Amino acid sequence: MEPRGKGLPLHTKILIGLIVGIIAGAIAQQVLGVDNPALKDFVKNVTKPIGRLFLNMIFMVVVPLLFSALVLGVSDLGDIRKIGRIGGKSLLMTFLLSGIAVLLGLGLVNAFKPGVGVDPAGRERLLASYGSNADVAKAKENAEKAQTGFDAIVGLISDNPLRDATEALTGGLLPFMVFALIFGIALSTIEEEKRQPLRALLEAIFAVAIRIIEFAMKLAPIAVAALIFGTVALLGVNALLEVGKFFFLVLFALAIHQFVVYSLAIRFIAKRNPIEFFRQIRTVMLTAFATSSSNATLPTALKAAQEDVGLPRDISSFVLTVGATANQNGTALFEGITILFLANFFGYDLSLSQQAVVMLLSIVAGIGTAGVPGGSWPMIMVILVRIGIPPEAVGLVLGVDRILDMSRTVLNVSGDITIAACVTAMEGDQREGVRDAIEASS
Ligand code: ASP
Repeated sequence: MEPRGKGLPLHTKILIGLIVGIIAGAIAQQVLGVDNPALKDFVKNVTKPIGRLFLNMIFMVVVPLLFSALVLGVSDLGDIRKIGRIGGKSLLMTFLLSGIAVLLGLGLVNAFKPGVGVDPAGRERLLASYGSNADVAKAKENAEKAQTGFDAIVGLISDNPLRDATEALTGGLLPFMVFALIFGIALSTIEEEKRQPLRALLEAIFAVAIRIIEFAMKLAPIAVAALIFGTVALLGVNALLEVGKFFFLVLFALAIHQFVVYSLAIRFIAKRNPIEFFRQIRTVMLTAFATSSSNATLPTALKAAQEDVGLPRDISSFVLTVGATANQNGTALFEGITILFLANFFGYDLSLSQQAVVMLLSIVAGIGTAGVPGGSWPMIMVILVRIGIPPEAVGLVLGVDRILDMSRTVLNVSGDITIAACVTAMEGDQREGVRDAIEASS
């Protein structure tokens, strides 16, 4: 799955890009000084456009990717509903676990505040180097005008999804996603022979969108070098300490979700021993870590769920296949933390309602994110623009993303098996309950 060039694997190239960018930026800052006009021009006219090329490649797939992923994900859930209650229960567990993941992430960022220690003058220089961005300005303006209360809920139901699609970067994203969800639900209810051709088409669009992300990722080593050069040259190496804090906070949050939240779900909902459970799925966790891709881990996950954990074939096949794209707890948690971190870093004080929007978008983003390496980035960039932060900001985090990607993929995949185990137990209880009722009435 991992796009490879000749020679070194892509993530090694990205790491090299990061190191080259940091060293070159630090030298430029020392030799030329932060206020050097030539340095500012270089960042504005050379490194920024190189970074922008990469960002645009990712932006271009947002609408087709999200639409196809959401419609397919939801219409799959609809299929499950037809074979019983499994779909509804999986959906409930998905929202419950993703909601806890995002809340955990947001709580930790608010407690530890990574990113707030950045020198304000440097931050201004860096923001100025990004220049004005029409999308960001418009998104800010739209966010300020955004309705609250009941109107905000009505506003989620789009009266013109095409307009929302063209405005996905400037505030149309959420109503567009809601449209895709409704479209998916409707699609799951029409006759099979009408549904199949559209599903096949959407599957092709989804595959093409993923291929474009792979193309974009090939540019990532150069883009990371260019974006981090600007950051270090204008802000200094110290700013990277904040990135370090963010990095460890993400790993800490992921570990809590994996070993505490999942363990509680396994103990109290699935009624199993968590240690035993993690032992049974250890190969799956290792495969997810090594590949950074939920999709690539699916075969291993299916095998372990059925043979090692002993889950019924019907439940595990449905939950895991759909979950590879539709249930991504690690990704939802990561997206929430990353956005708040970048907001802190660039001095944006997000109001509670903006944080609520981030939370909602991150939960739904967990459904709309492709299970491939770097699948989170389209969503993160769109949410950033939505709350008024220049998308170039991702340059700070991209260079260290590989390890975080490997780690969040472990959660994404173990979350699917956790849900399958919980749903199995809930179904078991119900079956017994039904039996008792039948016995009692006979
Ligand atoms: N790599 C993740 C997965 O495949 C998606 C992401 O968060 O980038 O599950």
